[in-house]
Amino acid sequence: MKLSCAEAEKVCTKAEYKEAGFMEKLRLKLHLYFCRTCNDYYHNNKKLSNLLKKAHIKTCSSQEKEAFRNKIKNGTSKGS
Ligand SMILES: [Zn+2]
Repeated sequence: MKLSCAEAEKVCTKAEYKEAGFMEKLRLKLHLYFCRTCNDYYHNNKKLSNLLKKAHIKTCSSQEKEAFRNKIKNGTSKGS
């Protein structure tokens, strides 16, 4: 029943592309609840893809992508 960190990471990626099933997502959520590492990974992953989606209107230079990554690293979160 319990996911390993590697499995959780896989489901994270699948969920990002809406390929994860209901049970997989449920197990992922459970794992994220107990595992700080994967929780951080999951949220950074989500933030990054949201930022990239937003920035998709204009073509993103690698420099801009780097800036996004730095933003996430520095934990800039205005929204909460
Ligand atoms: Zn984990």
